Amino acid sequence: MKTLPLGVEPIVAPRIDFDESKSLIGLSHDEVSAKLKEIGIPEKQCRMRAQQIWHWIYFRGAKSFDEMSNISKDLRKKLSENFDVGRPEIIEALISNDGTRKWLMKFPDGQEVETVFIPESDRGTLCISSQVGCTLTCTFCHTGTQRLVRNLTPAEIVMQLLVARDHLNEWPSPSEGRLVSTIVLMGMGEPLYNFENVKKAMHIVMDDNGINLSRRRITLSTSGVVPEIYRCGEEMGINLAVSLHAVDDVTRSQIMPINNKYPIDELLTACKNYAGLKNSRKITFEYILLKDINDSDEDALKLVNLIKEYKIPAKVNLIPFNPWPGSNYERPSKTRVVKFSKLIFDSGISAPIRTTRGEDILAACGQLKSESLKARKSDGTFLS
Ligand code: SAH
Ligand code: SF4
Repeated sequence: MKTLPLGVEPIVAPRIDFDESKSLIGLSHDEVSAKLKEIGIPEKQCRMRAQQIWHWIYFRGAKSFDEMSNISKDLRKKLSENFDVGRPEIIEALISNDGTRKWLMKFPDGQEVETVFIPESDRGTLCISSQVGCTLTCTFCHTGTQRLVRNLTPAEIVMQLLVARDHLNEWPSPSEGRLVSTIVLMGMGEPLYNFENVKKAMHIVMDDNGINLSRRRITLSTSGVVPEIYRCGEEMGINLAVSLHAVDDVTRSQIMPINNKYPIDELLTACKNYAGLKNSRKITFEYILLKDINDSDEDALKLVNLIKEYKIPAKVNLIPFNPWPGSNYERPSKTRVVKFSKLIFDSGISAPIRTTRGEDILAACGQLKSESLKARKSDGTFLS
């Protein structure tokens, strides 16, 4: 038998003939109810049946109608003839030396996305992708080298959470002590360029009939799509993280072309007005540290001044650059990173250095990219 390379988890999910067009995942209560009506279920039963099915999918984690024991055999048969609650194909499941996990899933049209789980001592964070590729071309980001292939559907966004919980054995949904306690929309893609689908998916994840994850436990990271920042606060009310990464427009435009469209002043004004602030929540500013580009003492002090000038309740997350094959930047020295952090802390703003997790399986921030078939074949980690 072929020995598995270190860090590869045997695939537990079988290949399932998943038919996304028939999937009930990613639909609202009303939409599920309407689908049931379409197959001839009496109208007055549809709402109740939709509730039952919803509970099985999102509370119990059912992957087939057969599991739905409080639904009659005949109806289960009819449901499985018409609909699907299965999972997509999981083509890679990796475990890092530090316990970080990464799943690569493939949808029926052949597109692939990555989802990362980062366990911590008392909780765990699931990093979800919102697009296949990204239209933006931030120069430090691996996803940015892959053009946008397409937006993910609400089903595909929610599916990432379901798959993670399948693998972590976290069904039925525990009320407390959850392994997946937090979601961050920080995987591949720009979530605010897929606003409607992300919004629908997050409403499903927050629904108290199912997964029931509080909006306070969800954070969306954006490169700064200003008009949708306003909508994000009003229509989802989840936490906001903004990839600032530079403190002057020249540098920011060089590394993040979106800055030409929405420069720093407009971005910080949107942050200041972010509706969530009403609940005294802080905005997180993500700041990647690139050697000799944005990592000087002056940059740190300017960052503090900007946050104070715009009066934004904020914390800063410092992310030392994570290299990827072919990248053109370097990570600053440890001393530089620590000094940068200290300067911000000294001004009264929290600025922890985010420890890199899952680097050995290319799961760290900015390392995700789906065109990995070649690499998988050559390094022998391809499982089928
Ligand atoms: N598109 C969104 C969310 C995905 S990226 C955004 O840009 O915010 C998640 C975070 O990883 C962002 O802060 C991004 O700037 C950062 N990132 C991208 N490439 C990186 C790299 N090579 N090293 C460290 N962080 C990176
Ligand atoms: Fe897209 Fe975010 Fe990567 Fe920029 S950092 S290319 S916005 S995924």
